[in-house]
Amino acid sequence: MLLRVLLFVGALSVLGLLGWFWASWPGALLGVLAGAVLTFVIDSLRGVRFIRWTQARDTTTPPLLGGLWGDAAYRVSRALRAEQQQVRESEERLQEFLAAIQASPIGVMLLDPEGRIEWCNDIAAAHFGLDAERDLRQHVGHLVRDPGFTTYYASGEYDSELRLSGRQDAPGHPVKLSVQLHPYGSGRMLMLSRDVTALAQADAMRRDFVANVSHEIRTPLTVLAGFVETLQTLPLTEPERQNYLALMAAQSLRMQTLVDDLLTLSRLEGSPLPSGAEAVDLGALLAQCETEARGLSNLLHPPEAQPQRLHFGPPPDFALAGSAKELRSALSNLVNNAVRYTPGGGGIEVACQRLPDGRVRLLVTDTGPGVAPEHLPRLGERFYRVDRSRSRESGGTGLGLAITKHVVQRHGGELQMSSQLGKGSTFALVFPAQRVRPALTPAVSA
Ligand code: ADP
Repeated sequence: MLLRVLLFVGALSVLGLLGWFWASWPGALLGVLAGAVLTFVIDSLRGVRFIRWTQARDTTTPPLLGGLWGDAAYRVSRALRAEQQQVRESEERLQEFLAAIQASPIGVMLLDPEGRIEWCNDIAAAHFGLDAERDLRQHVGHLVRDPGFTTYYASGEYDSELRLSGRQDAPGHPVKLSVQLHPYGSGRMLMLSRDVTALAQADAMRRDFVANVSHEIRTPLTVLAGFVETLQTLPLTEPERQNYLALMAAQSLRMQTLVDDLLTLSRLEGSPLPSGAEAVDLGALLAQCETEARGLSNLLHPPEAQPQRLHFGPPPDFALAGSAKELRSALSNLVNNAVRYTPGGGGIEVACQRLPDGRVRLLVTDTGPGVAPEHLPRLGERFYRVDRSRSRESGGTGLGLAITKHVVQRHGGELQMSSQLGKGSTFALVFPAQRVRPALTPAVSA
């Protein structure tokens, strides 16, 4: 600054001196005046250029101005560049932040103090059937029309979440959402939504399961209580007493079988998947199931009446990696079902095959009553039975196929079922080729 003042004073002095040489004092005065006017004009022109530049779109490159104006233009443009860089960085951070919210599996919606949508991610848009662009600035109450939500929104009490049906909710295709509002800032709100369909379904399944178990246990328990009361109150003959005790034993056995099956299921759910280290001797497995099946068949259809024809195929020349205990329970459930549901005189065939693609199939075919096509997809659900009374009469719990399905899935395989009403059924356990192992010596049994 001092330098500029000195330069200005120096220039005026030089012009004054030149004027003095030219025309003494009046000349000196004229020289100084001319210098001052010239400086003023140059400065004004620079000022005009500076103002024009500040009005231009691009203020990042300063104009070539000398003097104070040039200095000012340089400083202004530097400050503007720094500010623009800051804005760019903030914008980038905002975009990254929004991208992170977009990637979140939770629906996020920002509402202004009037309840209008300021922004929402794609998940929230899908949950409520919105268009993330078109519906901006719309009031959320106009777009989310569930009466439960209207009441929740109006209540101002947002401590707990609200459950409501999603936009795509339809019979047979339920979509359940959990929604919660979180006030923030000055009257704004964050609305979070989660798809809880699977959770709601698991809840419903758990409730059904508990209801089913209670029902299954209550029936034999009621019968037992009735018999106990009879034994306590009525004077019975010895044969009558024996008869009642036998009936009671049958009911206790039914409860015991049910509890055993429940425990098997819960153990299957809670234990680690069977490793590939243990190889199961399939020949021994078939032999065990055969002994069991023949015993049950003789009991249900004594040889003197109409015996069943049971045929077990030859032992395979390979073993299967998995849990011997689980595989035995899976196969024996299928074989026992075939024996229990096939009438006397019918035939049951059990075989182990190697499929062309290397997979292993344990097959149980019977000439029993078969299952109508509408029931087939539901077999394997807990407590699902085609004929309840028939299942119970033959000692069924309604859990056999559920256990079998679980076991085969734990081994990476699948339970296949095919049936023709009145003709018979085929149930098969199919295991992946990776589970095949070389045959074991007969001494090592399952
Ligand atoms: P349950 O203990 O009732 O036999 P499962 O889970 O083993 O329970 O079987 C479910 C239902 O599938 C049975 O109630 C029965 O209706 C049907 N089912 C199973 N196996 C056969 C079969 N071999 N032939 C006809 N129906 C069968």
